[in-house]
Amino acid sequence: MPVLDDYEPIVGAQVLDELRLLAKGLGRKKVVHVNSTAVGGGVAEILNRMTPLLNELGVETRWEVIKGGESFYAVTKKIHNALHGDPQGLQEKEYQEFLGVQEENLKNMDLREDIVFIHDPQPVGLIRRKKDAGNRWLWRCHVDVSNPNPGVWNFLRTYVEQYDKAVFSAPVFSQKLSIPQAMICPSIDPLSEKNREMTKSEIDGILERLKIPLDKPIITQVSRFDRLKDPVGVIQAFKRIQKYQEARLLLVGGTADDDPEGAQVLLEVKEAAGNDPDILILLLPPTSHLEINAIQRASTLILQKSLKEGFGLTITEALWKAKPVIAGAVGGIPLQVAHKYSGILTHSVEGTAYWLKQLLQNPRYAKKLGENGREHARQNFLLTRHIRDYLLLFLSLRYPSQYVVDL
Ligand code: UDP
Repeated sequence: MPVLDDYEPIVGAQVLDELRLLAKGLGRKKVVHVNSTAVGGGVAEILNRMTPLLNELGVETRWEVIKGGESFYAVTKKIHNALHGDPQGLQEKEYQEFLGVQEENLKNMDLREDIVFIHDPQPVGLIRRKKDAGNRWLWRCHVDVSNPNPGVWNFLRTYVEQYDKAVFSAPVFSQKLSIPQAMICPSIDPLSEKNREMTKSEIDGILERLKIPLDKPIITQVSRFDRLKDPVGVIQAFKRIQKYQEARLLLVGGTADDDPEGAQVLLEVKEAAGNDPDILILLLPPTSHLEINAIQRASTLILQKSLKEGFGLTITEALWKAKPVIAGAVGGIPLQVAHKYSGILTHSVEGTAYWLKQLLQNPRYAKKLGENGREHARQNFLLTRHIRDYLLLFLSLRYPSQYVVDL
């Protein structure tokens, strides 16, 4: 497991000194993070790497995962879709199921740390414990809530407003709330298996094992099989360029424990792909970090044609590998991709197809986009910047009623 000093060659000594200073200023605070899945998806990815580094900095940090059954995750998926604007609301018994699971989890959770950091809507109701514990609670929203279903959002808001502060990934997601808000982008760990440097022979070995041929340019989208990631739109865009350009499309996905719709979406994807030998659908277990690293590095272009997106860590991963990215102009994606500078933003199947063709035919331009993207990621989206923001956030909790905190 990498330690802080290992990041020095990437981010510089000054960045690490600042983290140590901030952690010292915080004193001996204890933190617990709570989310709904230990593997799969961006939140688990971040917590997995951040927890040991916060501990190394002297901020004693634990990570807990709430437990729920199939029916709970069916409800939370509906909530997730509703926050993304799905007009379908929830029935009373679904709200009851949601709240019941919060109560069940509270029975086995202590949550008396100085700071309780709750991630996303699934465990939002644990806030009930705050009254007894008397500590500080943060609600970290990783979802795009710029245009939520009003009924479902109003329900959640009654819980969110009991927190000390809400944290969103991008200014476009901020909502009118009676509590203070902070904007903090997520990050990737440049030293994790998902992002560390790899040798060519290591990459080739993994692609051979996964039976991915390297004889044509590879266009890749890595995503859970979720309609909001638009895997079918990706296939449609790819089909439009096939007559002009030799290439292979790779859809890499898996399932997350808290995402029950994946199997159905996968069927739709397989149907759209038909038996085209140039469309490969690859299902990987959620621990396939090195495999995904190798696939991203072996790809000519990376797509992330999301229709809604929280932040899009797959894009950060690709930018860090200096890959040209074509991505939907939604959610937090424009924070990462400046159109025609650090990648390409698109709004449709047609636009995606157009840019696929352009970038495949202009490799020098594509390379420049990738290089700019890597620098942008280095400056803004690495784990060390994220830890810095969280330490500042923790410090700001000392001044609950102040909107401007002079540190
Ligand atoms: N991921 C993975 N296996 C998959 C699909 C995704 O390991 O089959 C990883 C991906 O590399 C990224 C994270 O899961 O690190 C997805 O984060 P993102 O913000 O892109 O989307 P989310 O799934 O959180 O909506």
